[in-house]
Amino acid sequence: MSDPLAPDATVVVVGASLAGLRAAEELRHEHHQGPVIVIGDESHAPYDRPPLSKQLLSGKWDVERIHHHTPDAMDALGIEFRLGQRASALDLAGRQVHLAHGDRVDFDGLVIATGAAARTLPGTGSIPRVWTLRTLDDCLGLKADLAEVGEGARVVVIGGGFIGGEVAATCHGLGAKVTIVEALATPLERILGAEMGRACTRLHLDQGVAVRAGVGVDRLDSYPDPATPVAVHLEDGSMLAADVVVVGIGVVPSTGWIEGSGLTLEDGVVCDENLFAAEGVVAAGDIARWFHPGLKEVMRIEHWTNAAEGGAVAGKNLVAGSAGATPYGPVPFFWSDQYQTKIQAIGRPGPDDEVVVVDGAPDGGPMVALYRRGDRLRAVLTFSRPRQLMAYRPLLAAGASFDEALELSRS
Ligand code: FAD
Ligand code: NAP
Repeated sequence: MSDPLAPDATVVVVGASLAGLRAAEELRHEHHQGPVIVIGDESHAPYDRPPLSKQLLSGKWDVERIHHHTPDAMDALGIEFRLGQRASALDLAGRQVHLAHGDRVDFDGLVIATGAAARTLPGTGSIPRVWTLRTLDDCLGLKADLAEVGEGARVVVIGGGFIGGEVAATCHGLGAKVTIVEALATPLERILGAEMGRACTRLHLDQGVAVRAGVGVDRLDSYPDPATPVAVHLEDGSMLAADVVVVGIGVVPSTGWIEGSGLTLEDGVVCDENLFAAEGVVAAGDIARWFHPGLKEVMRIEHWTNAAEGGAVAGKNLVAGSAGATPYGPVPFFWSDQYQTKIQAIGRPGPDDEVVVVDGAPDGGPMVALYRRGDRLRAVLTFSRPRQLMAYRPLLAAGASFDEALELSRS
């Protein structure tokens, strides 16, 4: 249980990205009068990550366009931003956040929104032109390397997940020769199941992007010929010569600074259904593992809409306290733009769900697929069918049966 926030309470938000910003904004929408301090280790004002693998990397957008607010709008929020400062520890009993450079910041209420960091391939840190893609600085560095090599750059993308698929599509659009290496037999199989994973893979194959699936990466070496910087050695003994490598093999929740604080950490910060992790402490976004009251399962979601919606609910609930809190039970949603295709999903698809394609075919063209678990509709996945996707949202929100979804598909 957590008490309502006193009107003059000091709130510290750690993590100056989507979830942290939305939480801070919500505190002001709820008329919280006390100081709101947002601490973030990146030096940039809060920005959006989705364009990093799409519009910014492709050059369609410039950097200004990805910031959430203009500098004037940031000032108008009445929020103090301490950027370029890393939280190093949490003293829960003493109500203080310790910063890496030595300062301590007192709080009455705390929002944990430190998201996640890209997982790296061991032993690759010192190899030039090998990138992960999580931050604006990563994107600008990768973009500069691609520009330096120029058209026809050989790009190897390690990991066929969301980063892998989007970076492959964008680099292909820039004229690169792209190969995706994915350890699973089918990219995205663990998230969308094998059939829909194959449908996503078709998008790459149809464009002439190579996909090496079912084989892991053994190691990366600097190539002896300086004109071809990286050798990607695969576990089957083969080698791919690359000018640029992008590693997209998942993320690790950024919980290092909270370790030992007494909060429960289990692949993220464990929260209740109102996003409370402790008295006066909420968490949101990629870092929060919470009990979803509608789906009755504990989950952590690594997508944009969850960070935006969860951040707002966390801020609102921190003000209200547990007794007046709104349980956080969203219909999960994500999108991914690859080539000309808008991939979108709502609900919780699982690899073992039965999948029924009700419009189009899983051949890379426009399509609507329904996921069934037992007699329930579990999720909907579409390729370039945004209106059809949203028609199923009320059904998922209501926990509708699969038969109701089939009926809707025929209407
Ligand atoms: P993050 O965005 O990870 O922000 C956490 C912030 O906290 C970071 O700035 C981090 O540096 C900071 N931080 C970490 N530790 C500390 C510390 N100790 N002290 C201070 N600050 C700290 N989702 C979609 O649904 N659709 C998309 O198309 C899509 N595209 C994406 C493309 C890319 C390239 C990436 C990387 C992600 C994409 N996502 C997409 C996912 C989405 O961006 C994330 O789910 C979202 O950013 C999570 O927001 P967050 O605020 O929880 O965490
Ligand atoms: P991801 O979606 O989790 O995919 C990582 C993929 O890499 C998985 O298929 C994984 O397979 C594979 N992999 C792991 N280790 C590997 C290895 N050693 N060699 C080859 N493949 C390996 O993570 P991501 O693509 O890196 O994305 C990072 C984060 O950004 C995620 O949170 C993602 O949700 C988010 N993001 C979202 C979007 C979007 O929603 N459109 C876009 C970009 C990024 P296993 O499953 O077997 O581990």
